[in-house]
Amino acid sequence: MRVLGIETSCDETGVAVYDTERGLLSQALFSQIDMHAVYGGVVPELASRDHVRRLLPLLRQVLSDAGIGARELDGVAYTAGPGLAGALLVGAGVARALAYGWGVPALPVHHMEGHLLAPLLEDDAPEFPFVALLVSGGHSLLLEARALGEYVPLGESVDDAAGEAFDKAAKMMGLGYPGGPAISRLAEQGRAGRFRFPRPMTDRPGLDMSFSGLKTFTLNTIHDLGGATALNDQDRADVALAFQEAVVDTLVIKCRRAMQATGAKRLVVAGGVSANGMLRERLARAMGKLGVKVYYPGLAYCTDNGAMIAYAGALRLAAGERQEGLGVSVRARWPLSELGRVPVR
Ligand code: ATP
Ligand code: MG
Ligand code: FE
Repeated sequence: MRVLGIETSCDETGVAVYDTERGLLSQALFSQIDMHAVYGGVVPELASRDHVRRLLPLLRQVLSDAGIGARELDGVAYTAGPGLAGALLVGAGVARALAYGWGVPALPVHHMEGHLLAPLLEDDAPEFPFVALLVSGGHSLLLEARALGEYVPLGESVDDAAGEAFDKAAKMMGLGYPGGPAISRLAEQGRAGRFRFPRPMTDRPGLDMSFSGLKTFTLNTIHDLGGATALNDQDRADVALAFQEAVVDTLVIKCRRAMQATGAKRLVVAGGVSANGMLRERLARAMGKLGVKVYYPGLAYCTDNGAMIAYAGALRLAAGERQEGLGVSVRARWPLSELGRVPVR
């Protein structure tokens, strides 16, 4: 079965073709980062308009790269939420229309299920059940993935997402958007021990997280150094390192607890922050001690992409799912736990 995947939930237009026998056939991505960078964050209306501009050219490109015609597709999957409503509607409208025109099923996909399943695109794919840490620009979730569609929440951020904290801290230091890659690069030059940031919500039991306090702590640290404009390169690198260590240690502590609480031996880490090198290193050490194997997406599939949506759609299509009716609707908010187990046919 061959499924086209369309991702337009935020600021990347992603399109891909996944074949259940041959794997990922092709994928293309256009990131709007440069367009939004001047505003210091994503401008929803500009995002929607740019998806309109990019989608069909990317679609032609992936079909041509895959060496197939539209008639050889068995389904069209698209991100139906959560995300920016206007941006989602572009992908949903195009996907629904294409599926209708080609006479194949349309498959609404939950964006976070896409992230969650991205590590399954790798050669060494984890099997269900597993524990997952999803850390992205809008979410920080710990959950137990029992089967396709059956995701039991274990914990989540009570305020900012981990990626959001990276973005906001970076903005305070005058670094570009997105902040994660910028902070992680800068932290390599940082000197350990100069600043000590808190590890929020690790002094009490539980799997919930909080990252907004680290934002305030960053602001205060910068203030004590005389403000953002007074920072030299070494100051910035030292703050970046201390901030990153605090986020990473907090995530590692929560993962350790989740593995101990569930007794699971497989941990999947996905979403944009899963690209972070220090997170991967420290998790490897901590999980190694527990005999837990950690699975990640390839670096290109940590942040938003069409491949994860094509893949999630293909699994659902293979299980007999499809969208009923011709309506086009999206959900800006959509808890992952509302999905139900997909019966295997
Ligand atoms: P969501 O998936 O919750 O809707 P999103 O789609 O915007 O949000 P992703 O595309 O998964 O999020 O990830 C983007 C986030 O990942 C940004 O916040 C970015 O700063 C962060 N990020 C990317 N690379 C890194 C990195 N190397 N280290 C830390 N954070 C990173
Ligand atoms: Mg993005
Ligand atoms: Fe995402």
